[in-house]
Amino acid sequence: MDGYAHIAIDGPAGSGKTTVAHALARRLGVLYLDTGAMYRAVALLSLRARVDPHDESAVLTLARERPIHVSVDESSPLGFRVFAGEHEFGGELYGNDVSRVVSVVAAYPGVRALMVERQRAIADAGPVIMAGRDIGTVVLPKAPTKIFLTASVEERVERRLAELAARGNDVSRPALRAEIEERDRLDATRATAPLRAAADAVEIDSSGATIDEVVERIAALARPQA
Ligand code: C5P
Repeated sequence: MDGYAHIAIDGPAGSGKTTVAHALARRLGVLYLDTGAMYRAVALLSLRARVDPHDESAVLTLARERPIHVSVDESSPLGFRVFAGEHEFGGELYGNDVSRVVSVVAAYPGVRALMVERQRAIADAGPVIMAGRDIGTVVLPKAPTKIFLTASVEERVERRLAELAARGNDVSRPALRAEIEERDRLDATRATAPLRAAADAVEIDSSGATIDEVVERIAALARPQA
């Protein structure tokens, strides 16, 4: 495996990981995967199947029956495609109903084991920029470039508001802030693979920075080493 070119980008909700990772992938000509979409697919599956997200064994059974898989495809709108069984998911993965429950299903060790196995298989196939919460700590601990991207909660709320509005999704600022803070709390305090920076990650605070500035900074860090 050529582990050399893997880039891990972790950080809290709304820190700009997805946008930055996708732009960086285009800039470097490397594939890109937003692993949050896979956990979102499990959450959406449970909502659609009317399985209570708090019922761990029922969620796990569903995730085994309808395996989530992704194919990295630069020509698709997200930069990758997400399937549950034969069914393909799209923009509905990023809806509010999914955001509200995703951290509950993402805390289940059985769900994480299934997702991590698939993420590593993708990384084994070649260079990839992976965005998530545990990429630098758990999924690709040997990635040569690890970034922990943060931003103030105010800025993260404003970014998510703009993203949701662009998708025609209406949510109030206070409700969104509460959801982001709760998601951060659940992600950072869960027992398995909690959200945290890897010891060797470079922390970048993107508050007040443009996407291009952050992409440039990471591209400079990711330059091949001799
Ligand atoms: O990145 P995004 O905000 O779309 O992720 C949605 C949720 O998926 C996170 O709040 C977290 O609960 C979960 N997640 C995770 N591990 C990852 C990526 C996402 O637990 N590597």
